[in-house]
Amino acid sequence: MTPVIILKRNKEKPIRQRHPWIFSGAIARVQGSPSAGDVVDVRAQNGEWLARAEFNSRSQIRARAFCWDENTAVDEDFWRERLARAISRRDAMLPAAQARRLVFAESDGLPGLIVDAYNNHLVTQFLTAGAEARKSMTVRHLITLLTPTSIIERDDPMRRKEGLSPADGALHGRPPTEPLVISENEHRFLVDLRSGQKTGFYLDQAANRAALAPYSAGKVVLNAFSYTGAFAVYALAAGAKHVINLDSSSDALALADANLRLNGFAGDRWQNITADVFKQLRHWRDEGQQFDLIILDPPKFATTRANLQRATRGYKDINWLAMRLLRSGGLLATFSCSGLVSIDLFQKILFGAALDAGRNVRIVKYFHQNADHPVLLSFPEAGYLKGFLLHVQ
Ligand code: SAH
Repeated sequence: MTPVIILKRNKEKPIRQRHPWIFSGAIARVQGSPSAGDVVDVRAQNGEWLARAEFNSRSQIRARAFCWDENTAVDEDFWRERLARAISRRDAMLPAAQARRLVFAESDGLPGLIVDAYNNHLVTQFLTAGAEARKSMTVRHLITLLTPTSIIERDDPMRRKEGLSPADGALHGRPPTEPLVISENEHRFLVDLRSGQKTGFYLDQAANRAALAPYSAGKVVLNAFSYTGAFAVYALAAGAKHVINLDSSSDALALADANLRLNGFAGDRWQNITADVFKQLRHWRDEGQQFDLIILDPPKFATTRANLQRATRGYKDINWLAMRLLRSGGLLATFSCSGLVSIDLFQKILFGAALDAGRNVRIVKYFHQNADHPVLLSFPEAGYLKGFLLHVQ
C-alpha cells in the first residue's frame, strides 16, 4: 500500500493549484511509514486524492508533489518520459547550445534533480531525498536517452537541508580530468566539471551575457564577481577597450586568464584582480577610479529568510559603490540570484543605492535567467535570477 499524507483543512489550495511544496504545517497526519524519498499519495481531509509526492521527514518541505493524475503510476516509464520531455523542451528552445541545463528540478516536474549538459558530458545534482532515491534509475535513463560520454555528480549545500550526505564523483563513463572547452554563442570557455562552482559554469547568464555585449564597445569595463570571466570574453569580443575581472577566487581567475587567451585577447586589454569586491570598490572610490560599464553578478547573498536584511544591505552596498564609480552616462548591469529577493525588492534596494550615491538612475533593460531555467507559473519560486541594466547619470 502506498503511504498517504492527509492535509489539514484549508491547506489544500496550493496543491490543487499544482504548487509542489507541502510544508510540515500543512499535514494533518501520515498513514503508513514512508522512508525518505518514498512516493506518497496526498489526500484532502475528506479522503479526496490530490497528488502524488516524494516524502522526506527530515526536510522542512515535507513532501514535493510531481504528479496530479491519479491514474498515472510512478514507474520506470513515467520517469523516462519526464526526462525525455525536459530534454525536448530544451531542443525546442535552445537547439544550438552545446552547454545547457536539461533538467531544472520542480520546473520540469522532477523535484530536486539538476542535469546540465556540457558537450557530451552530463553534470547532475540530486538535491532532495526523492531525487537521491531515484538516482540509479535517472542515470540509466539518461544513458539511453543521450548516450553521454560521462555522467558526473556534484554536491550542493542544499543536500544537507534534506538530510543527505555529501556526494561527488563519476556515475558513468570517464569524466574529463582537465577543464573541458565548451562553446557559448560562438565564444569558447574552459569549464572544470569536477571542482568548478555549481556544476562548473553559470549557464543561467548565457542570454544576458549576449544581451549586454553590444553596450561594451569602446568602453572601460569592470566585471565584478567575474568567476571565470565569461562576461569579459563577450565584452572584449564586442570591442571593449579594457576589462577588469574582479573575484575573490584565484582558481576562478586562473581559468578566466585561460579563457581570455583561448578567445584570442591580448593581455594589454584585460586584467584579473583577486580581491574582495566590497573592499576593492571602496579602494577605487578613494582613488577616484572611473568606469564606463560595471557588471555586478554576486553570489546568492540571501540564503535564508533570517539573513534577508543583511543580504539587502550587501546588495545596497555594492550597488551604491558601483554607481559612485561610474562616469556620468555610464551603465550598471546589476544582478541578484537570491530567490528571496523579489524583483520589486531589488528595484527598491537600487533606488536606495541611487539616493545615497546622489545619482539619477534609469532602468533601460531587464534581465532574467536563461530559457533553459524555465519557471512554471504554478511554481514562481523557481524564478531566482533578476537583473537590471541601469543608465547612471
Ligand atoms: N558572473 C559570473 C558568475 C558569478 S558567480 C559568470 O558569468 O560566470 C559569483 C562569483 O563571486 C564567484 O566566482 C565567487 O568566487 C565570487 N565572490 C563571492 N563573494 C565575493 C566577494 N566578496 N568578493 C569577490 N568575489 C566574490
